[in-house]
Amino acid sequence: MNDLGMLTIRHARELLAGGELSALELTEACLKEVEKKNGELNAYLEVFDDARAAAKEADRKLKTRTAGPLAGIPLALKDNILSKGKVASAASKILSGYRATYDATAVKLLKEAGAIVLGRTNMDEFAMGSSTVNSAFGVTKNPHDPARVAGGSSGGSAAAVAMGGALGALGSDTGGSIRQPAAFCGVVGMKPTYGMVSRFGLMAMGSSLDQIGPFAKTVEDAETIFDVIARHDSFDSTSLPDAMRARAGGKTKAIGVPKAFVESEGVDKGTLSNFKESLGRLEAKGFSIKEIELPHARYALAAYYIIMPAEVSANLARYDGVRYGERVKGGDLLATYMKTRGEGFGKETRRRILLGTYVLSAGYYDAYYGKAMGARGRIKRDFEEAFRHVDAIATPTTPSPAFMIGEKAKDPLSMYLEDIFTVPANLAGLPALSVPSGKSAEGLPLSLQLIAPYRADRALFDIGKAFEER
Ligand code: GLN
Repeated sequence: MNDLGMLTIRHARELLAGGELSALELTEACLKEVEKKNGELNAYLEVFDDARAAAKEADRKLKTRTAGPLAGIPLALKDNILSKGKVASAASKILSGYRATYDATAVKLLKEAGAIVLGRTNMDEFAMGSSTVNSAFGVTKNPHDPARVAGGSSGGSAAAVAMGGALGALGSDTGGSIRQPAAFCGVVGMKPTYGMVSRFGLMAMGSSLDQIGPFAKTVEDAETIFDVIARHDSFDSTSLPDAMRARAGGKTKAIGVPKAFVESEGVDKGTLSNFKESLGRLEAKGFSIKEIELPHARYALAAYYIIMPAEVSANLARYDGVRYGERVKGGDLLATYMKTRGEGFGKETRRRILLGTYVLSAGYYDAYYGKAMGARGRIKRDFEEAFRHVDAIATPTTPSPAFMIGEKAKDPLSMYLEDIFTVPANLAGLPALSVPSGKSAEGLPLSLQLIAPYRADRALFDIGKAFEER
């Protein structure tokens, strides 16, 4: 078989278990795809030199039948997730030489399950963006059309999976950074319930919003990765205890559509008609579609772009040239701080630190941050109310398919609008899944987003799998 990189995890596991394929062959095949395509697409920032050794180790375990659930499966890591001994730069100049001193809990779990960590993928600097254009190391191009963005911020992870350079990947999602690039690249992406996956070893962006989650080609594959990484972790104080991880809710029957929200936000026509088709497909699978209201969802974007930068300004204070990463020396300590941060951070990162510092400053705190937190509470209550009537909620993942590289670069506000459908789930801490739903008239991937109640992550996989079946 030539296209080993395009295998699903499920199929690869069968071949590996049956001895028809070795982990080394599979790893070599993915590395070959990367060699062929990465020069143009820039999905990977680095391929790890010990991937082959890890594959050989996986082959030994497969032979002795002591292999874990992901034994021999090559996966990619977003560059803000730590893998011990490897560079983790969050695609920032300020951390370009920083080496992780420990494994993120999610990475440790992947390794224990036998996965091969192939390398680290490109992203918007510190996960701020929707296009990977904000990377200090060049944009990631969309495998479906290299003139277009792969999305972001986890654009490299999405493109790595879509181009056959890994069978799955990890990303992080603060406001849509797994779901939006998944949608743009035609793969599955999932943001777990807040607290499901440990954030230990994930570089913090907005700590009350961030979650690590999987990319894969199918919903079932995403679930396999999720099952490995969704564990309680005493190193993350917001990690859900075991008692709260049991399956919430019963069988999913009713799916709600916030019609006014979906239709009022300047959604592209092709995206809307594809969304209607998707609802038809869900109905054909036996789900009932109900109109619901999320009256405060229209404030989600504004609230997010206050709360997130506020948390960014606090979280990024640690990159001061003393504790982590690059240092640019000035005459005294303050000058060193200013030079290091001024030269080390890119434009979007600096913009958000300034915004966040402003909304948190005395005299403005109540007017901005306080108000945004009030809106966040209302958005959460809207969902709680809606979930009294439906078991899940459907929207398009993005208002349009992948845009051209450079298209929104000069207009940060139009870039922020990308996140309209994805940020509400982060503000409310809810799980959400993006599943490919077909192609636009230009042949670009389109996607359906499903949002489930708090801790009902499993429901997303159930609906997603039913939706995928043809
Ligand atoms: N696009 C959003 C932003 O720029 C989301 C980022 C993310 O989820 N990390 O903030």
